[in-house]
Amino acid sequence: MNTLNADLHCHSVVSDGTLTPEALALRAQENGVQIWALTDHDEVGGQSRARTAAQDLGMRYISGVEISVSWANQTLHIVGLGIDENNPQLIQGLYDTRNGRTNRAKAISAELEKIGIQNAYAGALRFVGNPELISRTHFARHLVESGVCASTEEVFQNYLVAGKPGFVDHVWANLADAIQWITGAGGIAIIAHPGRYRYSDLQKEELYAQFKDLGGKGIEVVTGSHTPEEYAIFAKVAQRYGFLASRGSDFHSPDESDIDLGCLPNLPAPLRPVWSELQ
Ligand code: AMP
Ligand code: MN
Ligand code: MN
Ligand code: MN
Repeated sequence: MNTLNADLHCHSVVSDGTLTPEALALRAQENGVQIWALTDHDEVGGQSRARTAAQDLGMRYISGVEISVSWANQTLHIVGLGIDENNPQLIQGLYDTRNGRTNRAKAISAELEKIGIQNAYAGALRFVGNPELISRTHFARHLVESGVCASTEEVFQNYLVAGKPGFVDHVWANLADAIQWITGAGGIAIIAHPGRYRYSDLQKEELYAQFKDLGGKGIEVVTGSHTPEEYAIFAKVAQRYGFLASRGSDFHSPDESDIDLGCLPNLPAPLRPVWSELQ
């Protein structure tokens, strides 16, 4: 089970990726992925296209989403796998979560104006595939294309993040609601890329305990966002809390993502893979 090539985290043009669900499915299959999930931010509009494309290519498909959550004054991402994407409560929750993005984008643009970067909202919109889903990634692409930065990585070091120009604080879904939408739709809730959060050690333990109390079941261990040292750290967290373990590249674009679909080490042997619990 642990040696299956599962990639259960990536993004299409339906959120902030640059490939269509069909192109992602083909790329995943060419890279040897056997079990695949598309997990667009706050949006399930790509699910049926992804499933059809995956099944046509002989891959097992698991439905997915990545929900933006605010917890302890920071943004946290919760991946939902095996959800019924037609569940009305999930659809409404995701709609509400997406709802503030356009106003936030206009506020980001106003912040960038203050440092002399004009019309960033219109610039970012050129990269948007889904009008309900404008993200910082689209601003980052605009800032690269207009010559402000050399790469999206450089953008996120100098702009759009807390303490830097173009940052706008935003309140996303709360943790209890996000877990409820996922579990209520028959899915499994998973903490995405835990190595990326800047919580204190105490807060991290509080997060895992609260997440588990609320019905959360899994944690990403092997992801494109983690170093090999972090694979080991979060493997231990998974064992300590009895969490299922997940594996996913978080692939967004051939031009931006260092880790391609399916190109990750296997989950460490003692862990229980989340795909063993999904149909
Ligand atoms: P948003 O949901 O609009 O706040 O945008 C979050 C997205 O920005 C993430 O899903 C990533 O795709 C991208 N992002 C955030 N931080 C970084 C980073 N340090 N490097 C590259 N991409 C990032
Ligand atoms: Mn993203
Ligand atoms: Mn994420
Ligand atoms: Mn992601």
